[in-house]
Amino acid sequence: MNMRRQRTLARPARVHGRGLFHGHDVTMTLLPAPEYHGIVFQRVDLTARVLIPARVEYVTPAPRRTVLSRLGAEVETVEHLLAALAGMQVDNCIAQLTAAECPNGDGSSQLFVEAIDTAGIIIQSAPVATLDVNTSVTVHDEATGARWTARPTTDDTLRIEYELLSPFPGCDRQSLCIDVTPDSFANELATARTFVRESEVQSLRAVGLGRRTTPADLIVFDAEGRPIQNALRRPDECVRHKILDCIGDFALGGARLSGEFCGQRTGHRHNHELIRQIKDTQLGQRRRTA
Ligand SMILES: [Zn+2]
Repeated sequence: MNMRRQRTLARPARVHGRGLFHGHDVTMTLLPAPEYHGIVFQRVDLTARVLIPARVEYVTPAPRRTVLSRLGAEVETVEHLLAALAGMQVDNCIAQLTAAECPNGDGSSQLFVEAIDTAGIIIQSAPVATLDVNTSVTVHDEATGARWTARPTTDDTLRIEYELLSPFPGCDRQSLCIDVTPDSFANELATARTFVRESEVQSLRAVGLGRRTTPADLIVFDAEGRPIQNALRRPDECVRHKILDCIGDFALGGARLSGEFCGQRTGHRHNHELIRQIKDTQLGQRRRTA
């Protein structure tokens, strides 16, 4: 049983940048927070300083990213920050934003890992809340072939095995299995960038998204599967980014997660659905034993 204690930042950290989809300039301030606070967003550019907890209950469906909203306030593209906080085991933090979307950096979690490293981490007194997969849960989307299976582990780890099966060159067949720890997150996953196909960029721009985005902000694959004006950091950078996204979305369970996860062809909505079902299973079990 992992009884590690809760952790927060030792001091505030600030990150400047631009959102990937909307392109607005944004400053994010990450603040230490007390025990049992969790990760909570706040839009400081709005008159009403609404708090938006990073929990799956506040997810608003949106294509290609994770969006949270509460009482009319929205925060977008939160998954790469949430991945960095979960990966580095920061349980309590307030993320204040001056615009709707988190800064993109280079499309990975590296910007946030560096901010967390600069701020430092302190260990608090209370034990961390846990969300352990204690019965098998499956999410299957017949239309897309997306599938998640989550099973209990005997060794209390978060193990993610992912198979990227896509018909498109450059990101067609890659697989990886990784035990998520602060070391493996920082060394194996944090620098893996968002990727997109050139044809998708055009359709996103047609609806007003990604207009300020350049190939330096993410990996854009051409029709032959070559990165445009860019080079891959690793041959399997795409599957590493898929796992990074899962870690961010799974953090919406609001607790340290353990289990063995096996995924194929999934997107953000499948990640959210899986976490919802794991939480529902646990709630049902608690009700039955109460
Ligand atoms: Zn992503």
